[in-house]
Amino acid sequence: MSGSTARQQAIDNIREHSLPVGAFSSTEPPGAIFGQNVFTTAVMQARVPKAVYKSVMATIEHSKPLDPAVADVVAAALKDWAMEKGATHYAHVFYPLTGLTAEKHDSFLEPGAAGSSIAEFAGKTLTQGEPDASSFPNGGMRATAAARGYTGWDVTSSAYILENPNGNTLCIPTVFVSMTGESLDHKTPLLRSQQAMAAQAERVLRLFGHAKPDAVVSFAGAEQEYFLIDRSFFLARPDLLNTGRTLFGAKPPKGQEFEDHYFGAIPERVLAYMLDTERELFKLGIPAKTRHNEVAPGQFELAPMFERSNVAADHQQLLMTTLKRMAQKHGMECLFHEKPFEGINGSGKHVNFSLGNSTEGNLLLPGDTPHANAQFLIFCAAVIRSVHKFAGLLRASVASATNDHRLGANEAPPAIISVFLGDQLADVFDQIAKGGATSSKTKGHLAMGVDTLPVLPTDPGDRNRTSPFAFTGNRFEFRAPGSLQSIAGPMVTINTILADSLDFIATEIETLLAHDVEFDAAIQTVLEEIITTHGSVVYNGDGYTDEWTAEAASRGLPNLKTTLDALPELITDEAIELFEHYGVFSRRESHSRYEIALEQYVLSLGVEARETLEMATTVILPAALRYQTELATNLGSLKAIGVEFDMSTLDEVSAAVKNLKAGIAELKAELSHGHAPTLLEEAEHCRDEHLPTMLAIRAAADDLESLIADDLWPLPTYQEMLFIL
Ligand code: ADP
Ligand code: MG
Repeated sequence: MSGSTARQQAIDNIREHSLPVGAFSSTEPPGAIFGQNVFTTAVMQARVPKAVYKSVMATIEHSKPLDPAVADVVAAALKDWAMEKGATHYAHVFYPLTGLTAEKHDSFLEPGAAGSSIAEFAGKTLTQGEPDASSFPNGGMRATAAARGYTGWDVTSSAYILENPNGNTLCIPTVFVSMTGESLDHKTPLLRSQQAMAAQAERVLRLFGHAKPDAVVSFAGAEQEYFLIDRSFFLARPDLLNTGRTLFGAKPPKGQEFEDHYFGAIPERVLAYMLDTERELFKLGIPAKTRHNEVAPGQFELAPMFERSNVAADHQQLLMTTLKRMAQKHGMECLFHEKPFEGINGSGKHVNFSLGNSTEGNLLLPGDTPHANAQFLIFCAAVIRSVHKFAGLLRASVASATNDHRLGANEAPPAIISVFLGDQLADVFDQIAKGGATSSKTKGHLAMGVDTLPVLPTDPGDRNRTSPFAFTGNRFEFRAPGSLQSIAGPMVTINTILADSLDFIATEIETLLAHDVEFDAAIQTVLEEIITTHGSVVYNGDGYTDEWTAEAASRGLPNLKTTLDALPELITDEAIELFEHYGVFSRRESHSRYEIALEQYVLSLGVEARETLEMATTVILPAALRYQTELATNLGSLKAIGVEFDMSTLDEVSAAVKNLKAGIAELKAELSHGHAPTLLEEAEHCRDEHLPTMLAIRAAADDLESLIADDLWPLPTYQEMLFIL
C-alpha cells in the first residue's frame, strides 16, 4: 500500500490505537527495579573473593592496569549471574565511528566432549573479542592495520543484561581497536582523555595543598531531545526511513507558534511510552528523568542524571536504543535527527559536564571561602582558556551533515563558540583582569585579587539559551552537540583541552613558586594572564543576533558555519600535537578521524540526494501529473459545453511541475558526475551543488503540496506527522 491510501490507513490505525500489551505489566516501584539487570560493583563484590574485587576496583577507581589473573574469576562470576538472569548469549558492545552501537553476539554454549554442550566463558572471552573490523570505518588505517580488530573489556563500565523475548543477552562494554592498537571507536579516546585530564587536574590540586588527591574524573549529563511520530506515518515517508529527516513537506497551517499551547498536555499515549521507557532504563541502571519539551509539537526530552563521562556516554547510547525500541513497541517512531522537520525547532543533546573527585567534590562548584574560591576560579579559568584556544576543535567535535541544519539557525547555539559566565562570575573575572591591568603588582592589590573575592552564589542568575558553552552554577553546559551524536566525541575534546589548560596552569604556578612568588600572588598572576589573553571568548549577550556575529569576528573568534569549514580543525598542527602530546590520538588517528568524518558527510549527503531524486521522480511528479491531467480534463469539458473557465490553477500546477522537472534533471546530472579527486572536494561538491539543487526540488514539491487535491497527495503531511499522535 502506498500513496494517499497509506495516509488514510495510517490515520485509521491511529484512531484505533491502544496501549501495547504488557506496557504496565509490572507494579514494582522504580527503586525495586533500578539496576536489576546490571552487574554492578556491588553484585561483583558479593560474588568474587575480596582480593579479586579489590583488584578490579583499583582498576576502576585508580586506573591501575587490569590484572589478567582476576579476569578469569570475574568472568566466571559474570557468566553465572548472567545465566541466572536467563542469558543465553553474550555480546561485546562497542562504539564504532559511525556513531552507532555495534554488538557481536556469541553463545555461552560450546560443544563439549561426546556432543554435549557446556557453558564456557573464560577470562579471555570476557577481556577480548575479535569482530571483523573491515566493515567499520577506519579512515585509511585498514591498509596497514589489516581488517583485524579487537574488542577489549572496559572494566569501568558495568556489564548488563538486555532482555529479549527470544533470550537475554549479556552485554559487555568494550573498546574497539585495530591489530596495532589504534583506536577505531569512541570509547578508547574517551578513556585516554579522561586519564590525561585527571593527571593534570591532580597536579593542580597538589599545588593547592592536597598532598595525595583522589583520582579526578569528568562527569557528563546529557539532555536528549527527540521527536515522536506515529509509526504508520513514518513507514509512509521514505525520506524519514532512509535519511532520518523529511526532504519534502510544506509548512503546516499551524506550526509551533503556540509554544505554550502544547506544553500543558502530554498525550496519554506518549506518557505511557515515557513511563514504560523509564522502567526499562531503570532496569539497566540508567537514572532517567522524564520531561516534556516545551518548544516544538511532537518533541520531547529525556535527561538522565549525570555520571562519569565514560559511563554516561555508554548509557547515552543505550538510552537512544531503548527510546527507539520502546517507541516501536508503542506504535511510534523516535526521531533523533537534528532537524527532522524544516521550519520546526530541531533537536540537540546538551552535554553538561563537570570534574571532581571523592574528597574535593565538584571542582566547578563555587566555594564559600576565599581559598576554595581561588581553586574554583582556577578550574573555571582552565575552561575559559580551553574553549578560547580550541574553539575550532570544539566546533569540529559537533560537526556533522545532520547537525549543520541546526547550528547557526536561530534556535540552537550559533556556530561561534563562546562562553557564558553569568553576570556575577563575569564580574569576578573583570576584577581579576583589572587587577593585572594596573601592572603595579603591590601586595595589597594582589591580595585583593584573591582574598577579597566575593563569595559566589550557587546559582549565578539567569540562563542564557543562546550560548553554546554556558556556566550553569556548578557545571558547564555544551549546547552544540546534535541529538544524533554520541557524547563521547565532545567529551574527548573537552577532557583533552582541559588537560592542556590545567597543565599550563600547573606549570605556570610551579614556575612562579620556584621564583619565590607567594601562592596567592601566583594564583592571581595566572588568573589575570588567562583572562587577559582568553577573556574575549566570554560573551553574556544574545548569541542569535547579527551584532554578535559581527562582534565575534572583531574579537577574532572563529565562525565555522558548516561541517566542512570545521573539520579541517581536526588536522591542524596544533590539534595533532595536542592530541598526540596527551596520548589521546596519534597523528595517524587524528588523520583517520578527519577522513572518517568527511566520509560520513559524503555518504550522508549522497543518500539524501538520491532519495530526493527518487521521491521527486516516483512519488511527487506522478501525483502532480495526475492532478494536472484532472485539471486539464476538467477545463476541456467546461470548454466543450461553453462554460467560462479559469486557467490559473492549471497554470500554477504546470509551473511547479516545470520547476520540479528542471530540478530533477539538474540533480540527476550532478549525481552522475565522476568522483572528485579528493574526499574534501567530493564533500564540497555535495555541499555546494547537491544541497542547493535539493532545496530547489523541495521548493517546487512544497508548492505542489499546497496546490494538489488532498486525496491525490501521496505523503503524510507535516500537519499529520506533528499533530496526530
Ligand atoms: P536544566 O533544565 O537546568 O538544564 P536538567 O534537569 O535538564 O537541568 O539537567 C541537566 C543535566 O545536567 C542533567 O543530566 C544533570 O544530571 C546534569 N548535571 C547536574 N549537575 C551536574 C554536574 N555537576 N556535572 C555534570 N552534569 C550535571
Ligand atoms: Mg539544561
